[in-house]
Amino acid sequence: MGGRPEREHGYAQYKLDGCRCYTCGFANAAYYEARERAIMYGTWQPFVDAAPVREHLLRLRDCDMGLRRVAAVAEVDRKRLQAILTGRPERGTPPQEKVRPALAAAVLAVEPTLDNLGGSTLIGAIGTRRRLQALGACGWPQAQQARRLGWTDNNFSALLRQDHVIVRTALAVRGLYEQMWDLDPRQHGVDNQAYSRALNAARSNDWSPPAAWDDETIDLPGAKPRGAHVESPFDAPAPPARALAGAVSR
Ligand SMILES: [Zn+2]
Repeated sequence: MGGRPEREHGYAQYKLDGCRCYTCGFANAAYYEARERAIMYGTWQPFVDAAPVREHLLRLRDCDMGLRRVAAVAEVDRKRLQAILTGRPERGTPPQEKVRPALAAAVLAVEPTLDNLGGSTLIGAIGTRRRLQALGACGWPQAQQARRLGWTDNNFSALLRQDHVIVRTALAVRGLYEQMWDLDPRQHGVDNQAYSRALNAARSNDWSPPAAWDDETIDLPGAKPRGAHVESPFDAPAPPARALAGAVSR
């Protein structure tokens, strides 16, 4: 499932590991501006400078997106990207200096998102772990989660201890979380005992429920959960029916 990739602070760390340190933030912001400018300039010229496109290809390569994958996502011919990056050595041509704006825009629009990255690329595990823990805090037993993911219990426990996971795993867990975070496990095949055990385990491990996280922050290592303690979202006190009835009848 995954070791630890060697990544320096910068664009790839910002995108793949969710690092928001000064170096990563600066790298991302500066690069984002340059890329936006390049896209804008491209809208009114017959040919544009190939350098920003080349730069973007290198950034994407830092994120484990090779030319083949970028070409597929951008829906352009891989050979054209090769010509921009390295030229055509077999023909003795140097890296291309100018490109058509449509090609530049298509390549510059490619971002290293989970959907675009290769399935075996390693990314930070924290969001994956928090999602599984949050499901535990809803009363979903780990065995149930593992079964729905098609994993063994051992795989599952190992996953909870990893710093990095492959994209395929992160996507599977994200899908599971979106499907299950607001379901009551007791209405979906989990008996009361297993439910209580899952809640107790979550409490003793200090796992945060879904309500503690935003989609925008759950993958960021620096993000803190809102409200520290775990309560079942389905164990809210029953509405004060009698008091209400009394108030109405008065
Ligand atoms: Zn960083």
